[in-house]
Amino acid sequence: MENLFIDISEKKVFEVEKIRKDFPILSRLIHGKNLVYFDNAATTQKPRQVIDSIQNYYVNLNSNIHRGVHYLSEAATKEYECTRKIIQNFINAKHLEEIIYTRGTTESINLVASSYGFANFKKDDEILISAMEHHSNIVPWQIICQHTGAKLKVIPMNDDGEIILEEFDNMLNEKTKFVSVVHVSNSLGTINPIKYIIDKAHNFNIPVMVDAAQSIQHLKIDVQQLDCDFLAFSGHKIYGPTGIGILYGKKKYLIEMPPYQGGGDMIMSVSFEKTIYNELPYKFEAGTPNIAGVIGLGVAIRYINNIGIEAINNFENELLSYATNLLSDMKGLKIIGTAKDKTSVISFIIDNAHPHDVGTILDRDGVAVRTGHHCTEPVMRRFNIPATTRASFSFYNTFYEIDVLAKSLKKVINLFN
Ligand code: PLP
Repeated sequence: MENLFIDISEKKVFEVEKIRKDFPILSRLIHGKNLVYFDNAATTQKPRQVIDSIQNYYVNLNSNIHRGVHYLSEAATKEYECTRKIIQNFINAKHLEEIIYTRGTTESINLVASSYGFANFKKDDEILISAMEHHSNIVPWQIICQHTGAKLKVIPMNDDGEIILEEFDNMLNEKTKFVSVVHVSNSLGTINPIKYIIDKAHNFNIPVMVDAAQSIQHLKIDVQQLDCDFLAFSGHKIYGPTGIGILYGKKKYLIEMPPYQGGGDMIMSVSFEKTIYNELPYKFEAGTPNIAGVIGLGVAIRYINNIGIEAINNFENELLSYATNLLSDMKGLKIIGTAKDKTSVISFIIDNAHPHDVGTILDRDGVAVRTGHHCTEPVMRRFNIPATTRASFSFYNTFYEIDVLAKSLKKVINLFN
């Protein structure tokens, strides 16, 4: 712990101080201390550019989209549709209409489970998920299984928090009808080998959905290269607003899938006798959407593109290994999730201290972390613990902030031991 305050920002690998100026909230004081925001896996902070774009929409553009011929409606529609193109390029989707706006990862998964599941699953079919899924990649599949008689099967993980691939291989069979896996675990930080999983499943013609809620902001994602069939993420975890998310789906599936919700905008024509649904992607976008959210998300992705996702990933990996080294040296602290391939998340427990107490003490030092089961109760059960404390990093965090965390944790350890 002697090296706690060595300033290794000298390295100047990444212009983090310049970047931090774009995020107004980072200069806040909390309990009289500089905010150290390590709850990025829950939601990321927003750069000024995103905040301004939302304000600009309401000040200068506010109007409903798609249905107006007046100037404001056309201008708002243009901005709204522009984001779709930005997202298409960002994840390298083949077709623009494969990008569907939703409320977030949760809604994207529910959409697929409900629409694809109702149309395709039947009694005794098997749906595979992994042991480290967020509740939002468990419960929608349980619901559809209850309705159709399909069975949910769970790919186990090892003590490091890695999917056991041999088990996965053995679980695939002619009854398997769908695989849905998380790319990066929100409670362990594990990066799963999704390319392997997708390729193996495709050998059996099984479609694969990727929960990219915790990977889209850290890793380069190319849906054509991955060859995933569906992919979901949330705007608020990639520096955009809350209430907006993306579902990517291969056109061949989306065309066949029935609508998820009915209402305005998702129809071509309606009569009491018959409704003709709109074409993709609008078939899945019923009702007035989160227009400001979509516009803000487009600006957030542009912001990320300006820095470069590879540069972001490199810097975040440095933060992670710096923090892992510091925390690994602390007696009385145990890291939960020690996969070989990890990104941006450290979960840990401290002897004799409940994570909520840890979180409260850190908060007094201005350090925001998350404590609890992180919506992954089965993960906690797998490790036989009630909860963890989780620090999750973003490219706007610094090595100095990790030192502050470590110093505060040292205090906790002394207090409880
Ligand atoms: N999947 C993972 C891995 C997550 O970490 C989260 C949120 O923490 C979700 C899904 C759900 O995301 P949202 O609440 O934005 O829909």
